[in-house]
Amino acid sequence: MRIRENDTIEVVAGNWSGERGEVKRVIPGRKGKGRHVGQRNPNGDRVIVSGINMRTKHQRPTGQVQTQAGRIQLEGPLHISNVALVCPHCDQPTRVGITLTADNRRARTCRKCGQYVDNT
Ligand SMILES: [Zn+2]
Repeated sequence: MRIRENDTIEVVAGNWSGERGEVKRVIPGRKGKGRHVGQRNPNGDRVIVSGINMRTKHQRPTGQVQTQAGRIQLEGPLHISNVALVCPHCDQPTRVGITLTADNRRARTCRKCGQYVDNT
């Protein structure tokens, strides 16, 4: 995935367009374990971003362990096509390139300023 946990992203489409937040969770588009390798997850390729796409969940108190009841605010998933990674160097929403480092590892790069997104 081009976007990983703890990345800062900017929403580029929809109601939350222009908002920025940190990725809390990535829902991959392909399953990775056992006989499910390579299978598509139609609800995948999405990210949960803190403070973005908030929705109210009406939670009932259920179970032995008391869950928080009432109306609680939760982040909904955003499709990765609607978000762009914010480059830590040039502070702009950008597309992500993959380049090889000097020691032949694949590193994510900013397509705008060309610098490595991650510490390499
Ligand atoms: Zn950049």
